[in-house]
Amino acid sequence: MKYEYGMQHTIEREVSCSGSCLHSGAKVSLRFFPAPPNYGVRFRRVDLGGSPLLCAHYHNVVDTQLATTIGVNGVSVRTVEHLMAALYGMSVDNVLIEINGPEVPIFDGSSSAFIDILEEGGLQQQGVARQCLRVERPFIYRDGDAFVKVTPSNRLQVSYTIDFPHKLVGNQRLSWKFDSMDFTRTIARARTFGFLKDVQKMQSRGLALGGSLENALVFDDYRVLNQEGFRYVDECVRHKVLDFLGDLALTGMPMLGHFRAYKAGHALHNRFLKDLMVKPGFYSIYIPATLPGAVFPNTPVPSFLRGMQPAIKQL
Ligand SMILES: [Zn+2]
Repeated sequence: MKYEYGMQHTIEREVSCSGSCLHSGAKVSLRFFPAPPNYGVRFRRVDLGGSPLLCAHYHNVVDTQLATTIGVNGVSVRTVEHLMAALYGMSVDNVLIEINGPEVPIFDGSSSAFIDILEEGGLQQQGVARQCLRVERPFIYRDGDAFVKVTPSNRLQVSYTIDFPHKLVGNQRLSWKFDSMDFTRTIARARTFGFLKDVQKMQSRGLALGGSLENALVFDDYRVLNQEGFRYVDECVRHKVLDFLGDLALTGMPMLGHFRAYKAGHALHNRFLKDLMVKPGFYSIYIPATLPGAVFPNTPVPSFLRGMQPAIKQL
């Protein structure tokens, strides 16, 4: 793989995969195609007449109940977050994804399968500079005692806290720096999780119909029902970081800031983003090559970051 943080990337070759969906239980196929610079991530619903295209963008989020759904003109794609997290973690900026159903397959409930398919597709550097968003002023979005906030930082950091009244989950906190820990190793394999009584309730409402121990970490009142147990001792909070990155990826660009989330979820992630993005002065858009002092993943301290001024000011 040729990788250079400051540049846009697509995949080298077409790849495909298929699997069952969490909420509908249906089997759906995905085909990934290389896409030109500045294309972003787009889904094409090939099962519908006219094969409508949807941009994976936070503006297009139409539902956040249990998963993030994007939709335009009544056409939607559900449960995009684990795929978006994989694209973000693998630095794939531009890709066209053909999908023949309304929901992205759940696979094992993590980003693992998407990482595998993107690795198979390879990474192609496109010779066009990326833009990144740097937070310039602290910002908070609250909902009761839950919140998401961000403070300026020269790197992407996510500090997430969850608090569930269950002895195996309880209060978990993870502070994760994008540049110092490997997304694939530390975050991507963390599975979505749920509680048996909630799963039963959801299924009675026609949700999580494809839910099983194959695609989620499930707890009853006392224990983990999955035979293999946890992948990480704090797998639940790691999955929340994964979800957050997937929702953040809907900005369409790398972000620099220290994000802190407390008892949040897809709805709060999205409301936070929508509110932040309309606040003039709270962030700037840069080309990474012009951003002094920034720390980016998987690169040595790049010489191109030194002593240069922002080329693109605030939107
Ligand atoms: Zn998730």
